[in-house]
Amino acid sequence: MRLDDEQASVNFEDRTGRGGGGFGGIGGGGGGFLPLILGLVASRFGIGGVALLLLGYCALSTFGGGGGGYGPVNSPAVQAGQAAAGQSTLDPAARELLTRTLGSTERRWGELFAEAGQRYQPTTMVAYSNNDRSGCGAAQAAMGPFYCPADQRIYIDPTFFQELQTRFGAAGDFAQAYVIAHEVGHHIQTLTGISDQVRQAQANASRAEANALQVAMELQADCYAGVWAARDRNLLEPGDVEEGLRAAQAIGDDTLQRSAGRVPVPESFTHGTSAQRARWLQVGLQTGDPNRCDTFEGRL
Ligand SMILES: [Zn+2]
Repeated sequence: MRLDDEQASVNFEDRTGRGGGGFGGIGGGGGGFLPLILGLVASRFGIGGVALLLLGYCALSTFGGGGGGYGPVNSPAVQAGQAAAGQSTLDPAARELLTRTLGSTERRWGELFAEAGQRYQPTTMVAYSNNDRSGCGAAQAAMGPFYCPADQRIYIDPTFFQELQTRFGAAGDFAQAYVIAHEVGHHIQTLTGISDQVRQAQANASRAEANALQVAMELQADCYAGVWAARDRNLLEPGDVEEGLRAAQAIGDDTLQRSAGRVPVPESFTHGTSAQRARWLQVGLQTGDPNRCDTFEGRL
């Protein structure tokens, strides 16, 4: 992937190298929303869902935001600020990748929103290490990157990228950029109101239907990641698309469940199968058109 010409985003907070905030740390907030979220997941998807949530990535995007009773944007996370000089443990190359990829998504989505007569409000990315807090509760590396609709921020522990490589076998800078673009996709869904629509529909749905809606939401974020890459063709180098597809396949729910030693149970999928993820990333890549990312297929 060629990021040299891309300007770095300024919507970036480096909180790496700070002591573990965890549940009672940075900002001094209360117990956070994690127990609530886990309880919600447990009641809706069973204990397996909780395990999957902790194993999967960006799973908090599932239940945050919208009518869920989350507080306003001035969460402790927002007030926490940057890592002090000399404290950061963020590798300069990782910083480049994060900020330039985010910058690229801002330009591409800015264009797409402008074409629709709207203004794009960018998300902010928070890089953290150890434990931290988000507007959706605790942020821990085990969760992988996630988008928190309550404060409209992406939280990422950059060591996840090593895990992506060693544990999930998805190496390469485009694989990493795809993960970031997927989280930006959840931000788009928050801006367009899709997230709220999904949550309302889920409130009255059966467990299986609520799960299917969640899968559709995840697949749409994959498709949006493809749209971003399609709109920025000069970013892509030979092999990049395959890299992204490998990442999409590596982090499908069926693959994750298998690697966790379980037989895949489709009803408990919240991100979609590997094949579904790769397919919708392709739709985005081939069309460059967010309107083609109708993964809900009449469900909403
Ligand atoms: Zn997601």
